[in-house]
Amino acid sequence: MTEGIKSHYEVVVIGAGVAGIYQIKRLADLGVDALVLDAAPDLGGTWYWNRYPGARFDSESYTYGYSFSKELLNEWHWKERFSAQPENLRYLNYVTDKFGLRKYMRFNCKVEAADFDEAQDLWRLRLGDGRELTCRFVILAVGLLSIPTLPRLEGMDSFKGRSFHTFYWPHEPVELAGKKVAIIGTGATAIQVIGEIADKVGELTVFQRRPNWSAPLNNSPISNEEMADIRARYDEIFATCTRTPGGFEHEPDRRGFWEVTREERVALWDKLYDEPGFGIWLSNFREIFTDEVANAEFSAYIADRIRRRVKDPVTAEKLIPKDHGFGVQRVPMETNYFEAYNRDNVHLVDISETPLERVTETGLRTSARDYDFDIIIYSTGFDAITGAFDSIDITGAGGAKLFDKWRDGPSTFLGMMVHGFPNLLMPTGPQSGSASTNFPRGIENGVGWCMGLLGYMWDRGYTRAEATAEAQARWTAHVTKMYAIMLMRKAKSWFTGYNSNIPGHEHGKTRYLVYNGGTPKYVAAITDVAAKGYEGVVFDAEERVEARASAAR
Ligand SMILES: Cc1cc2nc3c(=O)[nH]c(=O)nc-3n(C[C@H](O)[C@H](O)[C@H](O)COP(=O)(O)OP(=O)(O)OC[C@H]3O[C@@H](n4cnc5c(N)ncnc54)[C@H](O)[C@@H]3O)c2cc1C
Repeated sequence: MTEGIKSHYEVVVIGAGVAGIYQIKRLADLGVDALVLDAAPDLGGTWYWNRYPGARFDSESYTYGYSFSKELLNEWHWKERFSAQPENLRYLNYVTDKFGLRKYMRFNCKVEAADFDEAQDLWRLRLGDGRELTCRFVILAVGLLSIPTLPRLEGMDSFKGRSFHTFYWPHEPVELAGKKVAIIGTGATAIQVIGEIADKVGELTVFQRRPNWSAPLNNSPISNEEMADIRARYDEIFATCTRTPGGFEHEPDRRGFWEVTREERVALWDKLYDEPGFGIWLSNFREIFTDEVANAEFSAYIADRIRRRVKDPVTAEKLIPKDHGFGVQRVPMETNYFEAYNRDNVHLVDISETPLERVTETGLRTSARDYDFDIIIYSTGFDAITGAFDSIDITGAGGAKLFDKWRDGPSTFLGMMVHGFPNLLMPTGPQSGSASTNFPRGIENGVGWCMGLLGYMWDRGYTRAEATAEAQARWTAHVTKMYAIMLMRKAKSWFTGYNSNIPGHEHGKTRYLVYNGGTPKYVAAITDVAAKGYEGVVFDAEERVEARASAAR
């Protein structure tokens, strides 16, 4: 036994974010000998790490929170419709403390390697500091947006000012007043940061390679009366989330795009543009996801909205995406983003025209000129979906490496198990129902299914579960097939595994990373597998169970 960590547990959960916290709650409820390990100094995952100004939900706060405890739902008052990072982190700490879960968690514990011991049906884990432990089951709650990526630029270490990735935004306040600030990237995070800091910095220069579509978040405070109303409607709210494809309150408009007049379409879009949250994306006509012409008409509508908000027509055109349509990747929601470009202190540099060449001691160099900065913010995204899995050296049965198996993209059973890697569960893995939906709704479904499987095994004395190769091939083919009808298959986005900053993830090779069938179909699929005695999963051979039982007698 090493300090604070025993040498063996029945279950080790890796990750103490929204998923890991709920996972350990369910295990603790059953009295299972379980531990949570996280590389971070404290719990919260996404909401521990991303402390940049403007970091907040694009899910309605009250649909993001856990649904499992009526008491919790009645106690917690969400202060904003789209709550910001400090409040979100407070919430996760509140939940952890309320249910006494902190005692199961160990921090500053990065899991470097996991090896499956076939003789004993258990996992051997190695931590970053060399400590080792074993467990029967490993549950990877490592997050789908938890490994930040930096651009591959020369001279990054030579910069004499301050620079950081948004994921590692410092804990202490960063003095921005009067400072010359660069931000590289215009993805979801940059869009939040830019809108928030444009009026707080001296000069802000945005380095954009490709613009993203974006629409207003329309955030607002939640009063005591509104919160009382939300509490009274929680059952109804979560029932809606269960019914909708995205796990949100936003339901698709079931009228056919082509069955209504252009005026009716525009009337819907005018209404949605002024409403809070993802409605503009998810309460839209379903054809915008699958029909190029419908998508082009809607994209042109949003482009006009951008032109109306950005005063300089040249800048406006640069902010309008030309290489993909609206909604074919997760849509960043914005607050004052486009208005930021109307300020004299905000400048847009199009690095598709004048590429970034290097970081210098005093700033950045493009092919056109040198720029001086006090602070460089890298808002360059994540090694999304598979990054955290790839960064653990996972060796399954017969010495197979998960990294090698997934080199060209993941292949899973239900997004939660991998053939050749017994007793390894991923409640929110690649190809599961989480990433394309309101995450916590997917997380609760995934954790619930994993608990069902574990209960099934514990009841029967099984010590080994593995997805069959056939079941995995079937699921992966199903996930792949669904991409074929979606316009998103062509997008350079984290839904297709594109990231020019990661070798092997350049454009051209689609990775089938997310399940696009929506929440109801996903839940139906995983429920059906469970109802059929976990069809597609093989458990220990009966002789082995019997032999163990007689040895114990
Ligand atoms: C800025 C931002 C805003 C977002 N907003 C929304 C939103 O509004 N709605 C929504 O649905 N989703 C949103 N998401 C997605 C978000 O990631 C999920 O909502 C949710 O927080 C995921 O929880 P998780 O527990 O699965 O993963 P995470 O919160 O990412 O937690 C994973 C944890 O695993 C740890 N870990 C990883 N690898 C290891 C290892 N090898 N050893 C030890 N520990 C490890 C990490 O340190 C981390 O703490 C947002 C993401 C970001 C980055």
